[in-house]
Amino acid sequence: MSKISLSLALAAALLAGCAGAPSARRTPAPVAPPVPAGPPANDNLNAVVWTQTAVEHDLIYREVFRQAGEKLAVALKTPKWDALAKGDRKRMPKGAKPAVIVDIDETMLDNSPYQARLVQSGGEYNEATWAAWCQEKAAKPLPGALEFAKLAAKRGVTVFYLSNRAQDLNEVTLENLREAGFPIADESVFLGLGTVVEGCEQNGTEKGCRRALVGRKHRVLMQLGDQLGDFVDPVANTPDGRRSAVEPYLDWIGERWFVLPNPTYGSWEPALFNNDWSQGAEARRRAKMDALRK
Ligand SMILES: [Mg+2]
Repeated sequence: MSKISLSLALAAALLAGCAGAPSARRTPAPVAPPVPAGPPANDNLNAVVWTQTAVEHDLIYREVFRQAGEKLAVALKTPKWDALAKGDRKRMPKGAKPAVIVDIDETMLDNSPYQARLVQSGGEYNEATWAAWCQEKAAKPLPGALEFAKLAAKRGVTVFYLSNRAQDLNEVTLENLREAGFPIADESVFLGLGTVVEGCEQNGTEKGCRRALVGRKHRVLMQLGDQLGDFVDPVANTPDGRRSAVEPYLDWIGERWFVLPNPTYGSWEPALFNNDWSQGAEARRRAKMDALRK
């Protein structure tokens, strides 16, 4: 082999060697292990997990019920103290007995496990799954609710439970309340959706007629609820309509009307999309995004 041939052979061998050697440049980037898919997004997750786990939620309930309990003594001693809105108070009967009106769901009883199930399944509220939950009679008292109701009863104040649960759930609801320890003077203190109020035409789920019914024999010392409709019926369920409905009663908040927080559901939500649940979920979602103040 000539010198030139030898050099060429060596060069070729070197090149061949280089081609086979690992090179830092050529080392493929390590492939990240696949990220396991998380649970699907759900618009109600934060609200539900807050109601179930945040101590702040429980503290708000306690502070509201404690404040209501303290005001009870003042209200009892003040003859003109009445918590019915103008449209619900027709006249004050002579010898009216003291009463309080409380909503049930998310006021006295905690139905957040039902909401949690919806988050887990990705489903939306419907009457069948709601009825099945109610029939379990598993709802627990909210913090401070039992103490307040017992205190009222002890002071001779009748507690009326005003609920928009469907009529066929009356019995299980009463049983749930009784089993949870709430004072139930007799069955007349339960005012469900099917309650007929003579001389008053109930509009849908509005509670006005049933509040007025309590007022026929009672001085209503206070009302407690998690929805505006637990206190007053707005003319229009729009954000503005809701604010103007409560405007005349702002001085009563924390005095005669005690409002509890419910970020998981309520009439505040459809107020944002014209109360039209037939719209698709995306359209409702867009309306809520549009309602954000930025
Ligand atoms: Mg409620």
